[in-house]
Order: sequence, then structure tokens, then C-alpha cells
Amino acid sequence: MERLDSFMARANAAYYATRDPFADFTTSPEISQTFGEVLGLWSAVTWTLLGRPSPIALVEAGPGRGTLMADALRAIGRAMPDFAASLRVHLIETSPRLRDAQARVIRDATWHDRLDTVPDGPFILLANEFLDALPIRQFVKRGDGWVERWVMDGAWVERACDDAPWLAPVPEGTIVERGDAALAFVRQVDRRLANAPGATLFMDYGPEHSAPGDSLQALRSGVPADPLAEPGSADLTAHVDFAALKQATEARVHGPVPQGMFLARLGLFQRANRLAQGHPPAEATAIMRAVRRLAEPDGMGRLFKALAFTRDDMVEVPGFDVGPLPGGP
Ligand code: SAH
Repeated sequence: MERLDSFMARANAAYYATRDPFADFTTSPEISQTFGEVLGLWSAVTWTLLGRPSPIALVEAGPGRGTLMADALRAIGRAMPDFAASLRVHLIETSPRLRDAQARVIRDATWHDRLDTVPDGPFILLANEFLDALPIRQFVKRGDGWVERWVMDGAWVERACDDAPWLAPVPEGTIVERGDAALAFVRQVDRRLANAPGATLFMDYGPEHSAPGDSLQALRSGVPADPLAEPGSADLTAHVDFAALKQATEARVHGPVPQGMFLARLGLFQRANRLAQGHPPAEATAIMRAVRRLAEPDGMGRLFKALAFTRDDMVEVPGFDVGPLPGGP
């Protein structure tokens, strides 16, 4: 018998080590090169706002095929060579197979299993669809209290627990989730921000406000599947609880803002138009269609969100609202 979070950790480690995840799902950087390019430019502007520290670690957590970082580095090299010369790439990746894929497209990087081993100092950290892959716990309301969900032989088992993961009254049988691993990651980011200037950008999906419900999802060969069957054969994810992350951090929080709004503010469509102009009509149409998928509310524009953490003295971060506009109420 295994608690859900340890089951999920083991299943995903096996999954990412043995499968090509991108046969099962598509992520923003795999949909359009403009995604990584725009996040590269976000990093470059953020670097200037941090006071252009040199050297600086450009860290990515869960880089997948390395596409986001490769696109970001290309854009940075063109737009801000000083930043390109100052940055050192650090990749947090546990899958040997994905590390190989990353090494094929990123020339100069250092790999880590965890954030802890990235050297202290100024940093910019990017993470797209990383937190949603981290293990969660689930609790079920039973009678006056709560039980926790464990897994045995592909089935749920409920065990007593002392936690009260949700304080408001909820109906019998309600499921509530807690992303302890994501919260632990946030605490590590906080420690880093206490020691050096830096900024962290999470792009992930989930509701803006915490809500009860079971968001555990398995994709096997691109099709929703039973999360408990054949561990390691499917990608397991859960919604990111943005409100819980905001509450857990001691850093200054920016957002969350919907991905579509964030990318549009950073010039996604201008970048895409310029890219499209260099291509024949059919390809230009495909480029614009891909970009719309990233940004439109019925694509990934609304459910996906951007959330950034910085030190308290960093008030402005590109892509996030900075209070009322001049002339406003
Ligand atoms: N950011 C990429 C990939 C998302 S898939 C993209 O947008 O395409 C999730 C990524 O996180 C994979 O690279 C996976 O191997 C990595 N990952 C999952 N759990 C991890 C963990 N606990 N520690 C480090 N990396 C992890």
C-alpha cells in the first residue's frame, strides 16, 4: 500500500524515464517556437530589472525536450547579447532520457536532480508544466473528519489521517487535494530569493481559487486513462493550486494572470506576425493558428496561467499588471 503522493512520484519517474511524453500530450513550447522566444525576452527584461547581475543562473525546471530553453536562448542571443554572455544554464531534470534530448538542443548546460544543487546567487527560473507533474495528496470527507487516499493493487484505499485539509463545510465524499511537493518547491525558491536577487516564472494550469475536487488526470497514448492502472505507462498530472502557492510563499507575488493575456502583453502576436511574414502562406497560417491556440481562452489562454515570485523590492515584472493605469480610478 502506498500513499497517493508516493505512488504518483514513482509512476511519473517511471513514465518520464521510459516513455516519450510528447507522444501523449503537447505543451506550449512544442506548439509554437514563439512561446520560448517570448519567455526568453521576458527573462532578458527581467535581468535588466534585477540590475543586470553577472553571472546569473538561467534555470529551467522540467525542461522536457529542451525546446523552450533552446528557443529562449536563440531569442536572447539576438535581442540581448550582454545577457547571453552573462547567463549560465541550469536544468532540473530527473529523467535520463529527457536529459539526453535536452543535451541535443542546448549546447552548454549543467543538469540537476533538484533545485538545491543549483549554485546560490542571482537567478531567473522558468518552469512550464512542471508543478502539475509533481505529486499530490488527496483527502476525502467522511463523517466528521477526513481520510487520506492510498493506493493498493490499482485501487483506492482510504486510511485515517489527522489532517484537516479543508476547513469550510463540504458534503460527504468530497475530495480535496494538496500539492505538498509544489509547496516544498516554492519554499526552496523563497530560500534562494532571500539570498540573492532573482525571479521565478511558473506557467501551469489550474483554477485561480482553491476549490475541492479531484483533478488527478492520466493520459496514456494521448487518451484519458485510469490513473491507478499500470503505473509508469501514463502521464499523471493534477491542477496547480495557485492560491495555495501564493499563500505559501514569502516572496512578492505577481499574478496569476491568464497565459493568453500574459503572452499578448509580452508581444506574442507581433513576434508571430513577423515570423509568419517570412513563410509561404500555408505555413504562415499554421504559425498563426498555433499562436492562437496558446493565447485564446478556448485554447490554452485561460486555464493556463502565469505566476511570478520575486523579492519584495521588485514591483514591476513584465507581463503582470502593475496596479491602476494613470488616469484610472
Ligand atoms: N516543460 C516542458 C516539459 C513538461 S513535462 C514542456 O513544457 O514541454 C514535465 C517535465 O518535468 C519533464 O521534463 C519531466 O521529466 C520533469 N519532471 C517531472 N517531475 C520531476 C521532478 N520531480 N524533478 C525534476 N523534474 C521532473
